[in-house]
Amino acid sequence: MPNYAIFLDRDGTINEDPGYLGDSNKVVLLPGAGEGLSLLKKRCNLKLIVISNQSGIARGILTDEMVKNINNKINELLQKFNVQIDDFYYCPYHPEFSSEEECRCRKPSTKLIKEAAKDHNIDLSKSYFIGDMVTDIECGKNAGLKTILVKTGNGKKSLDVLKMQNNLPSFVAQNLLDSFNFIQNDFLGVS
Ligand SMILES: [Mg+2]
Repeated sequence: MPNYAIFLDRDGTINEDPGYLGDSNKVVLLPGAGEGLSLLKKRCNLKLIVISNQSGIARGILTDEMVKNINNKINELLQKFNVQIDDFYYCPYHPEFSSEEECRCRKPSTKLIKEAAKDHNIDLSKSYFIGDMVTDIECGKNAGLKTILVKTGNGKKSLDVLKMQNNLPSFVAQNLLDSFNFIQNDFLGVS
């Protein structure tokens, strides 16, 4: 039996995004994030997979250890909601500091989604991508996923750009909890 998944951006989607977040003590979950993820797992039994660009590593601002500590902290904070992110994938590179080959993992490339789909036996035909950036929506569409733009993080600005590009996502949500409402209806056919 294949699994279905929510691929998620991290910063600005699950947690507040101060820019190059490196201190795990500064991780703050966004409103509705814990509740939304918990419902997605319990009601829809979807794998929760983070796909994140972390170019702060290539820039020398962050280390792999710092990024992993933040990921662990997110799961620690999510314990309160009885839910965990199943896996975290990130691309540490940036075109200004890394080779073209290395940058192939960066969103909107689908490389990490394909890697995760293989690792977790995920069927992409009924899976979703949620994020706050234009590149998140592009990434999801490139992988053939349904896409949800959250208005948290950079989401409101991204919505303006996506409208101008006539490149709207499948759904625009206030936050992760609101995303659950759309996905529940779409995935389970509940109205
Ligand atoms: Mg983001």
